[in-house]
Amino acid sequence: MLRAVVKLATLLILCWLPQQACAAVAVSAARIWPAQDYTRLTLESRQAIRHNMFTLSDPERLVIDLEDVELGDMLNGLTKLVGEDDPYIRSVRVGQFKPGVVRLVLDLKSEAKPQLFVLKPVGEYGYRLVLDVYPAQPLDPLMALLEQPKVSDAQAASAPATTVQAAEEPPAGEKPGLAQDLGIGKIDTRLPSAAPPPKNIPELRARTLIVAIDAGHGGEDPGAIGSKGSREKNVTLAIARKVKTLIDSLPNMRGVLIRDGDYFIPLIGRVAKTRKVNADLFISIHADAFIKKTARGSSVFALSEHGATSAVARWLAKKENEADLIGGVNIAVKDPYLARTLLDLSQTATINDSMKLAKHVLNELGDINDLHRGHVEQAGFAVLKSPDIPSILIETAFISNPSEERRLNDENYQMKIANAILGGVKRYFAQNPALSKPKFAQAEF
Ligand SMILES: [Zn+2]
Repeated sequence: MLRAVVKLATLLILCWLPQQACAAVAVSAARIWPAQDYTRLTLESRQAIRHNMFTLSDPERLVIDLEDVELGDMLNGLTKLVGEDDPYIRSVRVGQFKPGVVRLVLDLKSEAKPQLFVLKPVGEYGYRLVLDVYPAQPLDPLMALLEQPKVSDAQAASAPATTVQAAEEPPAGEKPGLAQDLGIGKIDTRLPSAAPPPKNIPELRARTLIVAIDAGHGGEDPGAIGSKGSREKNVTLAIARKVKTLIDSLPNMRGVLIRDGDYFIPLIGRVAKTRKVNADLFISIHADAFIKKTARGSSVFALSEHGATSAVARWLAKKENEADLIGGVNIAVKDPYLARTLLDLSQTATINDSMKLAKHVLNELGDINDLHRGHVEQAGFAVLKSPDIPSILIETAFISNPSEERRLNDENYQMKIANAILGGVKRYFAQNPALSKPKFAQAEF
């Protein structure tokens, strides 16, 4: 015992001395998640890494000094992790800057707004040092949507000029039809005044219903993992992309993928993006696990402001809300825009609409899969807290159930789910023509 204490004391004394290798922290994993929104670099270790960051320009670089870190395979391998298609990072160089300090130099493709922060151990993860490289000029998701023509636009563009002219704004004094009126009011007035809407997108002149499709989880947050190793984040993205394709094939609808790649978006960030594209609906797609492997069937959820409708709903909402812990949110950054809107506005009316949408989608899902329960459930899902956009969360099936896991990976089955979601959305719009949407979002945009 005494010997052990002496040994520990010696070790501590040695570690107090500068430049001793005994204090070096080993990086156990290094990951890079490139995406259009931002690129994330994660270094994982058993102890927190002390760090220091500064930027250099001409050319743009980020320099990160890691203190008392071992220069091992993981750090050396970082160079190879950066892909040519990374939107923000051109390359990474790693070297022993001086005894006890490993220096990372990131050569950037353009000016960036970096955030560097530490996440404490959670789930399977140890300490994580996270670098998020955001573009200096944040992307505007609404402008991105407008600039990205869908298939029907391309067809319209190649059609005779009269087709496009037919969609032009009516002459002054002529009363537009209701759909046209809504269309102009909906998109044109919400664009920043400095950026007039592109004139060559005919659909801007008509009522276009925007459906935000949210593939659950992503990046550092894999979501639930099936017994065969399927990750919820991949299944949800595959289904979300199919839903978007189906929605885009309809003349007056447009699908927006809130996540279109393998990267993490905080729950509140998903709500923010949905509001920024001024979506008419928000649909979050999931495929969760439950404690019991026998749990099966599809479920559709709406937000509840007053407790959950069942124990399973409460359990799932808790799991889903933990996504931010696993995915890794920089708590130092708050979004004042969201804090204001989420606090001030009542959600009661939206929950009623969400329930209607949820019922339509649940009915359609009932044609292709067993339902976990025969009715829509409610719980406190953070991602459903848009005060003015009907929002639902779909647990398409349980990835923890081996037979459902197999089906979730089947492209044909994914397409069936996507079709069922589309069917529910169409029925909802047929019965609720989106006329009563509050207009306060315009003022805030
Ligand atoms: Zn999930």
